[in-house]
Amino acid sequence: METRTENVDVVVVGGGPGGSTAATLLARRGRSVVLLEKEQFPRYQIGESLLPSTVHGICRLLGVEKEMEAAGFMYKRGGSFRWGTNPVPWNFLFSISPEFSGPTSHAYQVERAKFDDILLKHAAASGVDVRERSEVIAAVRDEEAVRGVTYRDADGNEHEISARYVIDASGNRSSLWKATGGERQYSEHFKNVAVFGYFEGGGRLPGSNSGNILCEAFGEGWLWYIPLTDGLTSVGAVISREHVAQIQGDREAALMRFIGKSSYVKDMLTTATRVNDDSMYGEIRIRKDYSYANTKFHAPGIVLVGDAACFIDPVFSTGVHLATYAGVLAARSINSVFEGNVDESRAFAEFEGRYRREYSVFYEFLSSFYNMEQAEDSYFWQARKVTNLSESSFESFVSLVAGGFSHERVLTDPNEVAERFEQSTRQMAEAAERTGGMETDSGQRMNHLFGTPVVREVMEEMNAIQARGVAGEALVEPPLLPDGLVPTEDGLGWAEPAVVPA
Ligand code: FAD
Repeated sequence: METRTENVDVVVVGGGPGGSTAATLLARRGRSVVLLEKEQFPRYQIGESLLPSTVHGICRLLGVEKEMEAAGFMYKRGGSFRWGTNPVPWNFLFSISPEFSGPTSHAYQVERAKFDDILLKHAAASGVDVRERSEVIAAVRDEEAVRGVTYRDADGNEHEISARYVIDASGNRSSLWKATGGERQYSEHFKNVAVFGYFEGGGRLPGSNSGNILCEAFGEGWLWYIPLTDGLTSVGAVISREHVAQIQGDREAALMRFIGKSSYVKDMLTTATRVNDDSMYGEIRIRKDYSYANTKFHAPGIVLVGDAACFIDPVFSTGVHLATYAGVLAARSINSVFEGNVDESRAFAEFEGRYRREYSVFYEFLSSFYNMEQAEDSYFWQARKVTNLSESSFESFVSLVAGGFSHERVLTDPNEVAERFEQSTRQMAEAAERTGGMETDSGQRMNHLFGTPVVREVMEEMNAIQARGVAGEALVEPPLLPDGLVPTEDGLGWAEPAVVPA
């Protein structure tokens, strides 16, 4: 058996969105990067509904926005929900969010095989040594740190690569994460199972909602309806664990039974036929045990990114957002350590702190959102109520579900952010002039919808940023964490926050 040992700066395991993002941003700063992917792309993956933060923030940072446009993916302008006890579906549009108004007010519904292939090819074009059909077998480590990996190539030959860092972006089915010495803690709240397939000829929502994700609750759970192309639709049922017996046996019958319990999804599929061929869309798939977070996101020599670290739940499509954001954070930390700008413990504390913060905000938000069995005071009902009564709260809701709530410039369009800051500065100055002080409507904004502690903290930060604008402070990106670091101008590293005069 032929073996080869080599030495690089970073080995990335897995060529999904998390791995490709990290690898590209490392190579961009001159790191030598090998990315090992066990499949030959394009390969199937679930997770087709993207957020504007991924499309306009991260894809732009990667420099892949033209390829994304050229791919002709379905425009997703927002979401349509039939949820809780309210029988009337409601819509939100991303354009309501201050971060994603104007030309960035959409995301895409993507065939993941194509999307992931675009990102992986772009990584290769950016200087990453991409090796497909190369399956990582184990981490190589000594007493102090992970030092590399062993892998098997397409011909069955085993190799070892040593590296200063290993990024585990191998998704939720590999066990490389165990090299951190941490544990995988499964969510007590989200214990769902998904069964899903593809249909040709399904209907579309009218007008500008035609590319929206449609989510419809029914007795045992909820259904997603994602228009992928003019003809192709992804349809899945997410049901709670206690109903799992219903999908054992005939998967197709189970999916069709759940669809039969819906109103809107069933109507949309009246003239559709399920794809039932040997293409990647012909299979009915089941996924379970996908809601967890590891106790450690990094350890000496190894960093976890994307589903290798954590995932919450399909509702609101946060998986690719979290994976690509984590890829950016990991690349920043590793770049900074190599360049000697920040010491290792600080760099990785920033990585883990920001990553867990993003995860936690969504976790809390989505937990409340699942509380759909109540009527007037249910979370979702509150969201609808807020839509009618308080524009600012609805804007906040949309910012959150668009992935732009943390106001990281990398997750939004910098021009949009600058405009938003200018606008909010103007509004705050006008309000201050009117009231003779610095009052804001933040008190009213902190209603039940955003009453959870982590979400409240984020909203307070948002108001603090606005207040800084009014106070005449430079509109630089503030640290997100206490005593934390800030992204460098190009978004690829960390820097100490500048002391900005008031
Ligand atoms: P992956 O996309 O899983 O990529 C990991 C890669 O690593 C794979 O290509 C795999 O082949 C490779 N790999 C694995 N093991 C090895 C190894 N040993 N050696 C080398 N390579 C290896 N997210 C959304 O954003 N929107 C949605 O609408 C959405 N819907 C979802 C619905 C369901 C039912 C589920 C379960 C998830 C959904 N997600 C959604 C989540 C989304 O699928 C994931 O969060 C996302 O794919 C994570 O990306 P990743 O890069 O971390 O991992």
